[in-house]
Amino acid sequence: MPPEQVEPAGAPCPRCQAPLVPQTVRTAIWQGDRLAVIEDVPGHVCTSCMEQFYDDNVSDAMRRLTEDGFPADAAQREIRVPVFSLKGRIRKPAAMTEDADVD
Ligand SMILES: [Zn+2]
Repeated sequence: MPPEQVEPAGAPCPRCQAPLVPQTVRTAIWQGDRLAVIEDVPGHVCTSCMEQFYDDNVSDAMRRLTEDGFPADAAQREIRVPVFSLKGRIRKPAAMTEDADVD
């Protein structure tokens, strides 16, 4: 029998080739102005760039939840999330300021 097309265990990160470790993660998905958090997600996390990867069946489960529009009655719980703005918080490059302290 030919081998199945299965991700080999311990496959390196596709982005940076560092080792991946299995880890239960959470992720957040925006749908327009709505934000949904999904937890208890079995993922593989890169030890270097921290990128998260999911098996196909895990991706399928998240895609189905997204396609269902995250029905409110399926939510386990709700959390309050503080929202911040970068308006007025972005510093201009130091080279642009007249009174920059240059030694
Ligand atoms: Zn990586």
